[in-house]
Amino acid sequence: MDTLLLSHTFEPVGQVPWQRAMTLWMAGRVEVVEAYADRQVHSPSRAFEMPSIIRYIRGRRPYRRTRIKFSKPTVFARDGGCCQYCSAQLRLSDATFDHVIPRSRGGTTRWDNVVIACRACNQKKGNKTLQEARMRLVSSPKRPSTVPTSLDGTAWRLGMPEGWRIYLRS
Ligand SMILES: [Zn+2]
Repeated sequence: MDTLLLSHTFEPVGQVPWQRAMTLWMAGRVEVVEAYADRQVHSPSRAFEMPSIIRYIRGRRPYRRTRIKFSKPTVFARDGGCCQYCSAQLRLSDATFDHVIPRSRGGTTRWDNVVIACRACNQKKGNKTLQEARMRLVSSPKRPSTVPTSLDGTAWRLGMPEGWRIYLRS
């Protein structure tokens, strides 16, 4: 189960596993806005309601300022799990890093030069530039500004807890 994380001004910041929500709460960084009525978390000595929505306590460092670590899972999340050339939906294990400007041409392994690609597109592009390969990107790569804990942290989707809806776009 996930917990919706809000800024102290009630803006959605992201979606975190409930275990992370409990850790933030026990560290005094957040307050519980709403709990899952039908779920409890048991520690050896007591039971807690599982948090459904938490909110940063004013004055604490906002989550969104966290610098996002460059890694395969975070690039995968930024690109929505899709090959940035053919839009195929990929599994993390099948996704490859493609350097838009190839490394052999001085391209760096950074947010703005790396995209997720399927193996076929990666091979097709090889050591060529976009023009040489006659390929186009679905979107141009950038460093994400918020923690990509979900594919779209601000829109309410079917299957999300009903209580989250008022905080999210729908
Ligand atoms: Zn592809």
